Amino acid sequence: MAKSLPKISPLPLAARIPASLYIHIPFCARRCPYCDFAVSEKRHVLEKNYMKALISEMHHRLPPNFRARTIFIGGGTPTELNVESLQALSDALKPYISGLREFSIEANPGTLTEKKLAVLKEMGVTRVSLGSQSLENSVLERLGRFHKAEQTERSVAMLRGAGFENLNLDLIFGVPEQSLDDLIRDLSAYIDFGVPHISAYGLTFEEGTPFFSQRESGQLKAVRQSLEAQMFHEIRQRLGDAGFSHYEISNSAQPGHACAHNRVYGRHGGYYGLGNSAASHISGQRVANTRDVEDYIAQVSRNQCAFGETDTLDRDAKIREYVYLALRSARGLQRTLFLRDLGEDVMGRFEDAIAKHLKYGLLETCPDGYRLSARGLPLADTIAVDFL
Ligand code: SF4
Repeated sequence: MAKSLPKISPLPLAARIPASLYIHIPFCARRCPYCDFAVSEKRHVLEKNYMKALISEMHHRLPPNFRARTIFIGGGTPTELNVESLQALSDALKPYISGLREFSIEANPGTLTEKKLAVLKEMGVTRVSLGSQSLENSVLERLGRFHKAEQTERSVAMLRGAGFENLNLDLIFGVPEQSLDDLIRDLSAYIDFGVPHISAYGLTFEEGTPFFSQRESGQLKAVRQSLEAQMFHEIRQRLGDAGFSHYEISNSAQPGHACAHNRVYGRHGGYYGLGNSAASHISGQRVANTRDVEDYIAQVSRNQCAFGETDTLDRDAKIREYVYLALRSARGLQRTLFLRDLGEDVMGRFEDAIAKHLKYGLLETCPDGYRLSARGLPLADTIAVDFL
């Protein structure tokens, strides 16, 4: 029987004013065949106008008194930008960064130069996330990536040489033809790098991508679900043994190195998003910009908001997003926080789903709530559907 919880008032409005900023840079040298992100291969044609639009959107949409605690520049490949564009972004951000706690940027191996690193330093970047994906060239080839493992090694050395120690490496697992031994070898190489943060993602086959069509036509075979689950467990086990803690289903960090910006997303906090496809979450409402780069440039240059289909969350959508994120986080679905943020008792809404997954051992109780068990974690997305 659900125990009744004390009534907690919603946060005062002032506490909900976002202190985080996401900036989307859509350019990639080439689209990877599994990627469905809002990216463009036309940097040479669009970069100048995109940067103009982005900086204009920044000054129009951010309140003058906005001071970011966390910034995340993602993409795409932000370090595909040329030095002039990075410098322009650095100058534009200056009014907003006093009081900054963490400033992350994504980079791809092979896109860094000494000059770009100097601008990133001047910009205030404190953390770099490298899209390494694998340290095995055969896996990189199968993924259709256009960099080699050696370029990741060189990029890490360059970053450290320039004073960037707070590094993340991305790892993709469940790649067609990958065996458990392949994954373990790759993972050991990652651990040997000694970076304080590793993000590990299972390969997904998104509709509309070449990988999706190839799987549908039988050209590409996804790894068995049971093997993918074994890989997931192996990653958690080995990273745990190496001193990492898993603060989110895909993210593991050495003590003190969890990404503060990721945590804002995971805790349903507020943030501004600038650039094509970027979403903002302000006072419980989420709006997303148009995905198309040229459409974004055109709208902003007409002094219009670049909102795409307005993606304002209704109550059910908010709850769906909340549960999805909570189940992916280490702290799980907490009753007191659910009541505070959504004004309902979690048991009142989800009693059946909770009972079912507790019974099958896919959920477990934790202080003040429920979280996925070791068996449930690889099935997070499927279990989340049952809550929705
Ligand atoms: S580098 Fe990353 S963002 Fe760019 S196409 Fe590849 S997966 Fe997508």
